[in-house]
Amino acid sequence: MALISRGFFFKILAFLCFIRSSQGRNHFNTLDLPSLMKASSFSTIKHETYDYIIVGGGTAGCPLAATLSQKYRVLLLERGGSPYGNRNISYLENFHICLADDSPNSPSQAFISTDGVINARARVLGGGTSVNAGFYSRADSSFVQDAGWDAELVNQSYPWIEERVVHWPNISPWQAALRDGLLEAGVSPYNGYTYDHLFGTKVGGTIFDETGYRHTAADLLAAGNPNNLRVLLHASVNRIIFNTEQGKRKPRAIGVEFKDENGGNKHAFLTRNKGSEIIVSAGAIGSPQLLLLSGIGPRKELKKHNISVVLRNEHVGKGMSDNPLNSIFIPTKNAPKQSLIETVGITEGGVFIEASSGFSQSPDSIHCHHGIMSAEIGQLSTIPPKQRNLASVQNYVHNKYSLPKEVFSGGFILSKIDGPLSTGNLVLVDTDINSNPTVTFNYFKHPKDLSRCVYGIKTVDRILKTNHFSNFTLNGGGYPTEILLNMSVTANINLIPKHTNDSTSLEQFCRDTVVTIWHYHGGCHVGKVVDQQYRVIGVSGLRVIDGSTLFRSPGTNPQATVMMMGSCHGAAADPQGGTIDQCDEMWLGHYHEHLVCAPELRQTDDRRIAPLATLAWIVEAGSDARNHTEGEH
Ligand SMILES: Cc1cc2nc3c(=O)[nH]c(=O)nc-3n(C[C@H](O)[C@H](O)[C@H](O)COP(=O)(O)OP(=O)(O)OC[C@H]3O[C@@H](n4cnc5c(N)ncnc54)[C@H](O)[C@@H]3O)c2cc1C
Repeated sequence: MALISRGFFFKILAFLCFIRSSQGRNHFNTLDLPSLMKASSFSTIKHETYDYIIVGGGTAGCPLAATLSQKYRVLLLERGGSPYGNRNISYLENFHICLADDSPNSPSQAFISTDGVINARARVLGGGTSVNAGFYSRADSSFVQDAGWDAELVNQSYPWIEERVVHWPNISPWQAALRDGLLEAGVSPYNGYTYDHLFGTKVGGTIFDETGYRHTAADLLAAGNPNNLRVLLHASVNRIIFNTEQGKRKPRAIGVEFKDENGGNKHAFLTRNKGSEIIVSAGAIGSPQLLLLSGIGPRKELKKHNISVVLRNEHVGKGMSDNPLNSIFIPTKNAPKQSLIETVGITEGGVFIEASSGFSQSPDSIHCHHGIMSAEIGQLSTIPPKQRNLASVQNYVHNKYSLPKEVFSGGFILSKIDGPLSTGNLVLVDTDINSNPTVTFNYFKHPKDLSRCVYGIKTVDRILKTNHFSNFTLNGGGYPTEILLNMSVTANINLIPKHTNDSTSLEQFCRDTVVTIWHYHGGCHVGKVVDQQYRVIGVSGLRVIDGSTLFRSPGTNPQATVMMMGSCHGAAADPQGGTIDQCDEMWLGHYHEHLVCAPELRQTDDRRIAPLATLAWIVEAGSDARNHTEGEH
């Protein structure tokens, strides 16, 4: 009897979950997705080959796979599992639980940079979009210009993403207070609800819908052709296989070796068609790591790990950068409604101001380690800095069960530096793809980064003194800056030793309380590791398309641009095409078919929207493919 009622209870629960998740979806239905198969289901014996093998089903990898599969046979290999049916991924209120899960199969893999900052990388289909804070904002125009992209085409490409996974937030009181506080503090004008990057204050998009349900890059796979698209989960690619036959001009990527969920070794190969390619979209940590493990990188580094050199390139793993974030904790009278990022202040001083609040609202999340959003005061700071490792953080999380709910009451204002000038590097720890490499970001090594941080904290201080914020605070009248800085130092959970002058020297405060907003990038820079078309320099049949290629994080938050990069490169690749001379009609035709991601734009005069010259960067992306000769491998 008990069993029956429990079964009935779960059915009801499942039904309610289904209603909730289906309510949150606009056009998306999981039934439209291609089958998501475990890697062990893949049989090498079948000798199936692919036009494209994509490593990493993340923010760039999923839209790439979807768009490429319109015409080509695509294999997408993702090391993590499915985001569907996982409440820690799907619901905003569980954002922190997902990050706090440090089990081997967690969708979020923690790592600590040598700087002492606890960080996270995605390990799940959808990549960063399955674990992130959801804020959606397009790149700034200077980023697009510096990247050498065509601004018009870029702007026409974002809507393909936006109509599928982006929503407008119902702005929460904490975010509304930030909006009004920013304006009162002079971060103006108010630009309203917009995806565009404009100086002043705005409300941006979010991949959480009005019910708090997360839409991810994995949803974009529903736009692919299921007959052409094979998606394998728990498929960890260890190595790219090259044809390095003597006499060939360049080593050519021909396949990959990967492990399935049981540790079984598998291989997958490209077709012999001209232009077939491996595309690495394993993220800013995973892509340089995989290139190194495959023999592309600094000779010394490869030799240290007994990896045979396929191609010497000193730049792989270099130029790693993370936008330093410093946050100010503000205790509040009442627990504010939970919110992730919805509002942003884009200052003229190269700093972005964002906010988050109320992480005690979900009964499940109250006792979790909340990373940068940790609102409980002084707990971790009781552990001597040198002993603050992941194990002590876990212990601390466990002890939180005894804390009263009130200590979680508050919110944060976050100050993030745009385009840090300090850079670091990534080197291998060992040859296991599952191990995190050693990553160094060198936060604030460049003095300009430090002075911008100070500018950011001063801006936050002005916001805190506005009426909109002092109304929220516990004492009703606002707190002296020094008290708030002190509280923020003790609430901070990086592993950097603290100093007694943290609340009097803003420089010291910045250095000691730096954390991440997870916008790290680099390791496979354009011009150093990949060319302008994202082809790996010195080999053929291999591209990298993801955050590792970025020299700077685009806009205030990168996911919009990383998804856009994936969709547009996928739409552009056309190995069956002719020469660039023929591109007039052909590429405009191709443009009709694929490049304008938003269907409504297809109705318009494409010649006006995209004159030939403006297509250059996309056409070039396909030109490499056309240059390969049939049967090259
Ligand atoms: C906690 C968090 C919060 C964030 N908040 C925001 C935000 O609010 N707004 C915003 O714009 N950005 C945010 N970001 C940043 C943004 O999500 C990332 O910059 C972006 O997702 C990176 O995309 P990517 O394609 O480069 O890598 P990813 O999306 O990480 O994709 C890489 C994929 O490759 C897989 N992979 C790696 N190695 C292998 C391998 N060897 N074999 C097979 N698969 C492999 C990974 O599992 C992963 O799925 C956040 C990030 C995090 C982690």
